[in-house]
Amino acid sequence: MNTNLSRRTFFGLAAAATAAAAVPILTEPQLALAQRRRIARDYAPGAVRIDANENPLGPCSGACAVMSSLLPEGGRYDFELTQKLVDAFAGIEGLKSEYVLPYAGSSEPLHYSVLAFTSKDRSYVTADPGYEAGMYAAKVSGANIVKVPLAKDYSHDVKAMIAADPNAGVFYICNPNNPTGTITSRTDIEWALANKPKGSILLVDEAYIHFSDATPSIDLVKADKDLIVLRTFSKIYGMAGLRCGFAIGRPDLLAKIQTYGMNSMPILAVAAATSSLQVPELVPERRKINTDIRNDTFSWLTANNYKFIPSQTNCFMVDTGRPGKDVIAAMAAKNVFIGRVWPVWPTYVRITVGTRSEMEKFQQAWKEVMSAPASASEPTRRASPTLARLGARDLPPGMQREEFLS
Ligand code: PLP
Repeated sequence: MNTNLSRRTFFGLAAAATAAAAVPILTEPQLALAQRRRIARDYAPGAVRIDANENPLGPCSGACAVMSSLLPEGGRYDFELTQKLVDAFAGIEGLKSEYVLPYAGSSEPLHYSVLAFTSKDRSYVTADPGYEAGMYAAKVSGANIVKVPLAKDYSHDVKAMIAADPNAGVFYICNPNNPTGTITSRTDIEWALANKPKGSILLVDEAYIHFSDATPSIDLVKADKDLIVLRTFSKIYGMAGLRCGFAIGRPDLLAKIQTYGMNSMPILAVAAATSSLQVPELVPERRKINTDIRNDTFSWLTANNYKFIPSQTNCFMVDTGRPGKDVIAAMAAKNVFIGRVWPVWPTYVRITVGTRSEMEKFQQAWKEVMSAPASASEPTRRASPTLARLGARDLPPGMQREEFLS
């Protein structure tokens, strides 16, 4: 072995890992927290929490039982348990286990994939509006960030995305998309794979896939294509606070993201995830619950002439016809915390599908806020005590003051 080369490689990897360690991972909970802190210190008791795309059902009963029984083992790392989870998932998907890397949620592999495949010479291409986390990672790698508007049907405009930069490193396709809950077809994903620049990857984020009719892309991984698929237990499985997810890709692609570090997994999350995978009716049952509540909410919005984008997931966008940030503040004043605004659509806000009773409270507050004159809610936002005396500890972890105030 060439010692210089291996030394250089080692220090290169170490530097990459150090840079990654020093870099905050900004993701859904921090973005939701940032918005909340602009208008309130925290959730008040009894708050309706439909601002962070969480699943109010939480982990399934089997997962809760297995976690309770495992609590006394909490002093152990238990790598074997993690391997069993990887093997179980790989078995279900018909993959070899080396195509699956476990992480404490999908935020880490999302961040690391962007760090690994973008640079100041290789841009990050994403949809607009789209999930923001990858853009924060791209800022770290120094990559140019190219935002491509969604197509008319709110799918990813893959032709425009691929045309956007012949030197792109990552094309991020969130399928279904956060925040719109809209899907991108299999044909479009295949087209993007066939036409993307050499050396680039598609990063297909399937965080919300179980809620929808979208075709999963894992078989394209199996066919050794240039893509990494992200999966999480945070959404339909209701395990956001427990932390478990996967990066799924060809081993040579996964090796590149592994250089940013692999921590040991939280064993309760691993056990809960393994147990959840063994309940075949879990996904269809939860999907039906979410779909029914979402569709009833859509019927109510339609009946009351509110404009929204039909979604297939546990979140959707509604047009307020006024600055969305004012509506968010006015809703919070009624103890209903709704999701954020995307700069490209400043009058739209994102709503997460909560429980039936939460959505009833949402409807009542929404009607009151929307029937008040547009100017009525503005002073609420201006008067936010948090903004007036913003200190470093008010900022969500890793967020800069300017980003927070934007
Ligand atoms: N990807 C998308 C599109 C998301 O919306 C989220 C969280 O909301 C994540 C990834 C990360 O989720 P987690 O780190 O909890 O797996």
